[in-house]
Amino acid sequence: MPSKILFSACLAGFHVRYNGSNKPLFDSTLQRWQREGRLVVCCPELAAGFSTPRPSAEITAAAEGATVLAQQARVMEVSGGDVTDSYLLGAHLALETARRHGCRFALLTDGSPSCGSQFIYDGSFSGQTKPGSGVTAELLRQHGIEVFSEHQLDALIARVEAVEQV
Ligand code: SF4
Repeated sequence: MPSKILFSACLAGFHVRYNGSNKPLFDSTLQRWQREGRLVVCCPELAAGFSTPRPSAEITAAAEGATVLAQQARVMEVSGGDVTDSYLLGAHLALETARRHGCRFALLTDGSPSCGSQFIYDGSFSGQTKPGSGVTAELLRQHGIEVFSEHQLDALIARVEAVEQV
């Protein structure tokens, strides 16, 4: 059976980022997967009830998605609001969506406190990044879903092809 891929809504072209923008990712394989019904578009933050635009948010310093999931760190808005519970809700809703559709893979937007999988912002709201994952990406990984960022599309395609050749 063809693999399904959970796909960040902003990469799919929807204007759902905190500032109302998108990050469309164009690729012929993605277009084919879309035609084949294999992309499951999801925005964890909108699923959790946030609107667009919304204040930017970052995981507190020295922490990442795993620490938030362990209830040992918070997700804070630039305005000072604690939005940890909503980010956790968004992560669990994304996991539920992935499971419902049988997604084995996820292709998510890097840098996001939800979807980041290789880097996130460091909690200082100064534009500095650090290695690590957002809350949703980490929860998906903890449940066996292979997560790739938009910078790893070639690796995802190779992985999907390898799995489907078995
Ligand atoms: S939560 Fe994920 S899908 Fe939604 S806007 Fe942020 S990066 Fe894009």
